[in-house]
Amino acid sequence: MINEKIAALGYDYGTLATHWPAGCNLCGESGLAMEVAERDRYGYPATFVMCRRCGLGYLCPQLSAHEYAHFYSEVYRPLVSAYHGRRIDAETIQIEQRGYAAGLAAFLLPLLPSPPRTILDVGGSTGVVARVLAQRLDARATVLDPSPDELAVAWAAGMETVAGLVEDFDPGERRWDLVLLCQTIDHLLDVRGTLAALRQMMTDDGRAFVDIVDLDVLLRRTGSIERVVKIDHPYYLTGPTAAALFALTGFTIVAQRLTDDGHRGFVLAPGSCTEPDWPALELTAARFLQQHVDPRRG
Ligand SMILES: [Zn+2]
Repeated sequence: MINEKIAALGYDYGTLATHWPAGCNLCGESGLAMEVAERDRYGYPATFVMCRRCGLGYLCPQLSAHEYAHFYSEVYRPLVSAYHGRRIDAETIQIEQRGYAAGLAAFLLPLLPSPPRTILDVGGSTGVVARVLAQRLDARATVLDPSPDELAVAWAAGMETVAGLVEDFDPGERRWDLVLLCQTIDHLLDVRGTLAALRQMMTDDGRAFVDIVDLDVLLRRTGSIERVVKIDHPYYLTGPTAAALFALTGFTIVAQRLTDDGHRGFVLAPGSCTEPDWPALELTAARFLQQHVDPRRG
C-alpha cells in the first residue's frame, strides 16, 4: 500500500524498471537468481532476487542508468521526504553528514598507516565528509558526484569537484592516498566494476573506506524483507558478499565496524585479486532463501 504522499509524486516505477542485468554482479552467473520479494518499502512493484551461487541480493529488473539519472534529479529527495514524513534536501543532508563525518574520522584516522595527502570521495555529495577529513589531515580533497547542486556546495568550500558517475570517470594516471565510498555502494549499477576501478585509483600504500547497508542486520531489525528493499538500492550486500567483492577486486580488509543505523564499514588496503570461498557463499545463500522465500512461490 503506497502512502498518499508517495502516491502524489506520481512516479510509476513498475512501467520504468525494464533493464534486466546480464548476470550476477558478484559471481557472473545468470539464471540462478531466486525471487524473494515483490514490493519495496514505498509500495512500488520492485522485485528483489538473490543469487543462489553467491548470495548477492539485487533488484531484477532494474531501472536503466538513464532512468536512475532522472530518478536522482527529480524523484529521490521528494520520495524519501514523503516516506520519512520530513524534509530531506541538500541542507538537511549536510547536518546529517557532519555527524557521519565525525564518526568516520574517529574510526578511520587511527587506522591509517601515514597521513594521506590526497583524498577522493566518490559519491561525495556536498563534500561535508571530505572536508572534515581533509581538514583533520591537512590533505587535498576531490569530490566526485553526479549532482551539480550538491557539488556546487563542495566547490564553494574550496574542494576540487568532478561532475558525473564513477562508472564514467576516467582518472587517467591520477592516484589518491585515501579513497572513500561512503553510503554509496548500494546505489551503484555496477558494484564489482566500480570497486575494480577504485582499486586502480589508489596509491600503492593507500587506503579505501567503503560502507554497505548490511542486509542481514537490517532484516534482523525490521523483521521483513519488504521493509528493507527500496528502489534507490539496486544492490543489497552482507558481510560475506562484501568481503567476496573486495577479494575479487584486489582489496584486503584491514578493519571493519558496524554502526547503529546498520551500516557496515570496511577499511581496505591494496591486495591481490583472490577467489572467494564460493561453497561457503552458496551455503549462506541457501540458508537465507530457506528462511525468507515463501515455499508456495515455488
Ligand atoms: Zn552470484
